[in-house]
Amino acid sequence: MVLGCYLVETGDGKHVLIDTGYPADVPLPPGTAVDEHAKTVIDRLDELGLHPDDVDVLICTHFDVDHVGYHDAFSKAELVVQREQYEVARAGHPRFASARSHWDHPSLRYRLIDGDTELLPGLSLIETSGHVPGHQSVLVRLPRTGRVLLAIDAVMLERLFTPDRPAQQMDDNEERLRASTRKLLDLVERERVALVVFGHDGQQWQTLKRAPDYYD
Ligand SMILES: [Zn+2]
Repeated sequence: MVLGCYLVETGDGKHVLIDTGYPADVPLPPGTAVDEHAKTVIDRLDELGLHPDDVDVLICTHFDVDHVGYHDAFSKAELVVQREQYEVARAGHPRFASARSHWDHPSLRYRLIDGDTELLPGLSLIETSGHVPGHQSVLVRLPRTGRVLLAIDAVMLERLFTPDRPAQQMDDNEERLRASTRKLLDLVERERVALVVFGHDGQQWQTLKRAPDYYD
């Protein structure tokens, strides 16, 4: 399984991180191929000359275990999550329990968001429930590349980016998932999105620029 974290550097030098990957202290699901050389988000930031304290904003797309593994390292950042996801998880939904120590650490400072929001100029949060309640995707406007949509787990694979897509095993609500997928299809058209990055698409991953390379 391929899983990505994304780092955005703004024109005024802010660092926005999106998700933090799989935690070291939670066993992988049986049958998962393990990449011995897989690096953590902390290692990746270090390779870029950054420390977790240099991250100003941490966008939490949702609290599934493979997205929150190192949240507790980012106590200096503002963590941004959809209110619906935060409330479902905080209420004790078992799905979000295994990595709770990471996303619900007392040192973390959350900002709760209701629906689609322009977080910073050129960086918008798009509410895309269905995989989980209160999932969010991210739309970034880059000066040369144009608009990049990080679908995250609203659309995990390129082949699922169709109006009548089926739900996958881990999806919470097929109706909401389809509505969110259609919302993203519309957005791609309307905003002339140049690149859509799917949440767990190993094939697409091979074709993408990865740190220290970047899209500008
Ligand atoms: Zn995921």
